[in-house]
Amino acid sequence: MRLTPVSTLSLLSLAIGFSFASTAQAAKPPAPDLSNAELQQCLDGLKNSSKFSGVDGYTFNNYRPSQPDPSVIQSLNYQPEFQKDVWDYLSSLVDSERVEDGIRAKRQWADTLRKIESRYGVKAEHVLGVWGVESNFGQTLGKKPLFESLATLSCFDRRQSYFQGEYANALKIVQNGDIAPSDMTGSWAGAFGQTQFMPSTFLELAVDFDGDGRRDLVNSVPDALASTANFLDNRGYRTGEPWGYEVKLPSGYWAASDRKNKKSISHWRDQGLTLANGSPLPYDLNSAGLLLPAGAEGPAFLVGKNFDTFYSYNASENYALAIAHLSDLITKEDSSKTDFVTAWPTDDPGISRQQAKDIQQALLNAGYDIGEVDGIIGDNTRTAIQQYQTSKGIFPADGRAGQKFYRAVIGNAGNIAPSSTQYGNQYGQPANSQPLQPASADRMGQLIQQQTSTPITYSPQSSVQPSSSGNTRYRRVTSADGSVKLVRVDEGS
Ligand code: CA
Repeated sequence: MRLTPVSTLSLLSLAIGFSFASTAQAAKPPAPDLSNAELQQCLDGLKNSSKFSGVDGYTFNNYRPSQPDPSVIQSLNYQPEFQKDVWDYLSSLVDSERVEDGIRAKRQWADTLRKIESRYGVKAEHVLGVWGVESNFGQTLGKKPLFESLATLSCFDRRQSYFQGEYANALKIVQNGDIAPSDMTGSWAGAFGQTQFMPSTFLELAVDFDGDGRRDLVNSVPDALASTANFLDNRGYRTGEPWGYEVKLPSGYWAASDRKNKKSISHWRDQGLTLANGSPLPYDLNSAGLLLPAGAEGPAFLVGKNFDTFYSYNASENYALAIAHLSDLITKEDSSKTDFVTAWPTDDPGISRQQAKDIQQALLNAGYDIGEVDGIIGDNTRTAIQQYQTSKGIFPADGRAGQKFYRAVIGNAGNIAPSSTQYGNQYGQPANSQPLQPASADRMGQLIQQQTSTPITYSPQSSVQPSSSGNTRYRRVTSADGSVKLVRVDEGS
């Protein structure tokens, strides 16, 4: 969710709302019953308000929703039912599959990435890291009709003023002709395209890099990658610097995780820190802060300014770490080992998306209602796991899918041994250690695993551009040379 400084705060507070929510059975509130008359009356008022002064009457009316979408209000007030440990978050977001997709994308877009590097000074793999985490390299963009989502959020519940601004900006984007109206789909909160920019961020920072005169972050990979680089550059990216690196703390060293408290490399050398492999710290960071996502017993990192630019993409340290880690593995072109040098402080590490799918399929076969097999362990799957654990006497019945549960279910269900180990969240946690869900798909919205919304009906129906909605197998991709082709979404376009 690309945020301007103001909206960073706005959505950060949303994020924190999720982060510190009570974990016990908070769950998804019911979808509210929203009055369409109230929506239409509200839209009449917005149309003539100063916020919408840059939107012409034709555009406003043409894409005016004929009904509210209650599911976005449900998403707005959703609080996760289950805590997610950082190792679960990282292992689902940075798995071998995503590294391989990233290596393929690096080769496919090598020329474009080179040009972007020279224009914006942002390392190719850092752009790829963001792209992979944000939209799974353009494969997962979110399907909610943006005008319906943003109109609903503009007129109901909390944060209306913020969403009114985003609604007006979304209308300006189609008014400018940058994005086809039929491509204006995204997360429940309005982030869209391969970079998952909010409309305000789009207007501020999207660029046309393929030279066709449109900033098309939905269909043009060069536009999307260059806009990502432009975003990072705008947030203070330092050309030539690494994001940071995994380090080793001296024995008995105690420190709090404090990324913002940056010190010189000499300072950290004096403290006895080394690279994770024991080599001396290189002097290639201007200054660095210590990041301990799971406390002093887990992997430790020194992070510089470029890590902060990743952070500004979504205001979550674990999210930024996923980008950083993915970009390192794409640089090394090695998908065989996705772990850090220091293990997470758990005897039950997280699982990959493929392992998550295997578990979901097994539960489905066993008659549990987990919804779709999508590799995302959401509330439905976790509830099913909890029921399964309870039925088998597995302790703790926490609904978590780690390596132990994977082996038990996929290996031989008869071998499940009740465990007395309480593995959980006992480690010191940084302020935002309950991250937003993987950005791919529908970041905050994805927390909910919501059903597809009812189809939007505009009045009258737009006639611009072929629709990509309902088409999940292929997408149009514009190359740097301007040629357009259809690429299968499951081939890592
Ligand atoms: Ca373009």
